[in-house]
Amino acid sequence: MEYLPWKVIENNYEPERNLYYETNFTLANGYMGLRGCLEEGFNNQLGSYPGNYIAGVFDHFDGDYVELVNCPDFIGVHIWIGSCKLNMTQGILKNYRRTLDMREGTLTREFVWEDPQGNNTHFYFQRFLSMHNVHLSCIRVRITPLDHMLPIMAETGLDGDIFNRRQRDYPPIKTIIPNYHLDVVNTEKFSETKASLETITKTTGVSLVQYLQLEPVGKHKVRTELEKNSVRQTITFDDEMGKEVGFDKYVLTHSSRDKDFDMHEALVVKEMTEVLEGGYDRLCLEHKAAWERFWDLADIRISGDDASQQGIRFNIFNLIQANAYWDSSVNLPAKLLSHTRYKGNAFWDTEMFMFPFYLFTNPEAARNLLMYRYHMLPAARRNAQKHHLKGAMYPWMSADDGSEQCDSWEYGECEIHITADIAYVIDQYVQTTGDKGFLANQGAEILIETARFWVGRVAWDERRGKYTILTVKGPDEYCSIANNNMYTNYMAQRNLELAIEAVEYLQNECPKKFEELKCRLDFEYAELDSWKEIGNNIYHNWDEERNLLIQDDAFMDYPEIDMERYADRKLPLLEIIGYESVMRHRILRQADVLLLMYLLNNRFTKEQKQIAYDFYEPLTTHDSSLSYNTHCIMAAELGMKEKAVDYFMKSCRLDLDDEQDTACSGLHGASLGGTWQAIVNGFGGVRVIDYELHLKPMLPPGWKELAFKLSFRGRVIEFVITEKGTKAALLKGNGLCIYIDDKKIRI
Ligand code: BGC
Repeated sequence: MEYLPWKVIENNYEPERNLYYETNFTLANGYMGLRGCLEEGFNNQLGSYPGNYIAGVFDHFDGDYVELVNCPDFIGVHIWIGSCKLNMTQGILKNYRRTLDMREGTLTREFVWEDPQGNNTHFYFQRFLSMHNVHLSCIRVRITPLDHMLPIMAETGLDGDIFNRRQRDYPPIKTIIPNYHLDVVNTEKFSETKASLETITKTTGVSLVQYLQLEPVGKHKVRTELEKNSVRQTITFDDEMGKEVGFDKYVLTHSSRDKDFDMHEALVVKEMTEVLEGGYDRLCLEHKAAWERFWDLADIRISGDDASQQGIRFNIFNLIQANAYWDSSVNLPAKLLSHTRYKGNAFWDTEMFMFPFYLFTNPEAARNLLMYRYHMLPAARRNAQKHHLKGAMYPWMSADDGSEQCDSWEYGECEIHITADIAYVIDQYVQTTGDKGFLANQGAEILIETARFWVGRVAWDERRGKYTILTVKGPDEYCSIANNNMYTNYMAQRNLELAIEAVEYLQNECPKKFEELKCRLDFEYAELDSWKEIGNNIYHNWDEERNLLIQDDAFMDYPEIDMERYADRKLPLLEIIGYESVMRHRILRQADVLLLMYLLNNRFTKEQKQIAYDFYEPLTTHDSSLSYNTHCIMAAELGMKEKAVDYFMKSCRLDLDDEQDTACSGLHGASLGGTWQAIVNGFGGVRVIDYELHLKPMLPPGWKELAFKLSFRGRVIEFVITEKGTKAALLKGNGLCIYIDDKKIRI
């Protein structure tokens, strides 16, 4: 692959990597996401995973559980040159090129196809999902005969005959078993070029309407037919032999989840008319202008390393395009809008890995991600009740209504650190934005309710004279079920502290609000005492002699494994030695204690961090994509440049280089966000401590310059890091003091 700063290009058609390209060429605009499938389809059904998703549109596939719905297809276009149907695996393909332009958010494919009868035709396809009007998708198709006068025909439309493929996390299902989620309610034809398809999800009752308009180029005839589950449009260009023909296709998508949703036909026809004034080119310009505004704040410039430059932009591009930054009713699926693996659910991936990117580049987006958790608080309360606990227990997997969507007890019931993770980022948000209003109006309520959860979830251990947390799964999911996972214990302790701080803040600064909340939540002052008592006496498992924090009670009982034997493996260790075996060995799936030491950075000494790094790193398989970035950040903090760069490279191009051979099942949202942190918090050494911004930059070898902007407490600050030092420029807002390498400077 060429390392281009703004583009990802497939130069030779690689049908055997079709799934990889479908994932990496996903386009989205927060509202919806479209995998990079070929317009004309793909021969081998298992080699393709068609996907068109709308954020927040879920449907039940199995009793209590929902999945992100694969929505009706609008991208399909079949083309005939004379009697030959376009199929790139037949005939001869020349000058093939498919380009993802990350600056502009477009996907373009061009090639000359010599069909099996020897006729040459040039094809041009382009698509974008508008960032300016998120309901709008546009496709451009141009077909130019190079050496023939054959009739050309194209068929396109809206296809409601669509299903999700049944999935299982482990082992994966390798055949196609359909889960049908949509009933077609109506198809309508307004004219030969305008039509619509209306569907409804089977169990959740979400209505979807897609309006389509075609604008053919060249002399043509269009015929629109309404079929049972689809709209089919056939365009024939037989009067235009030898000339360029084609069409632009516009699709407006609305769902009953939209605010102001109105299915009234006349309104949509009016909307379509308004949208289309100026046509494809103007719509594309508006879309590009919207992208420019996003890039202006979020771009990271690296000079001296083209692979990393392309890699980080790919990560940022996907983080931006997947997020409905304006909509607090949706969260980020672990695979963003690129696949239905994990059924479109949000995990801790959002808070601990992706959230910081939004926090520092688009605080409104960060706030809405927290608002999602606020809206889901009633469901988290019900989840706690279900476990006979007070307060709020956030689900390990969360979709449209905040109920637990994980069907496996060992994760759903035991990976409870997610509750403390949410509390942790509320504090990060408030410290980084200064938005105390959020703390007063929403944050404090979450903190109080989550603190209550921990009160019920701890157990007094007479023998140790400490509070313990039993039967949990820590971030290291190879740990079986553990007692006293240190990540969980420390983060729960932090949750309790944050609740105390929030109550004190409300009492002092917003007494009215406090009274209201006190009443509504039946809060009693004695609760503060119990939070303090538990927080001060939670069990910490230190091996005092070694100054080493022990991951969990049983960790040292497990035998080690000879990791060298598996050094060249292509598969996760789990798939080689099996679940039961990874669980009874002293190995980690991903960072656990090290992640804790990054997050609660000031609570541990440099020596403790180094000892933990030296101990845990060799035991870590990095079988999860969430692991490299934490190792990069901690290696950078500890001054281990080579290791930091090594981990960064693995994380930065994880999807582009298909580092873990898993790109086929969607993008790795947490890794994309974690890579952003690897640069900003790792190489930039950025930490927010007591509402102040600290940097300790470290430039990887070969990098001439690293530049990024951060939004911090209403300001925008640009940092340019070179070997000579770090320049900070205040681009927006009032002057403030920041710390670079522990030196206080005013900007
Ligand atoms: C990881 C979890 C993560 C989940 C979703 C798993 O492989 O171990 O930490 O939350 O994937 O990305």
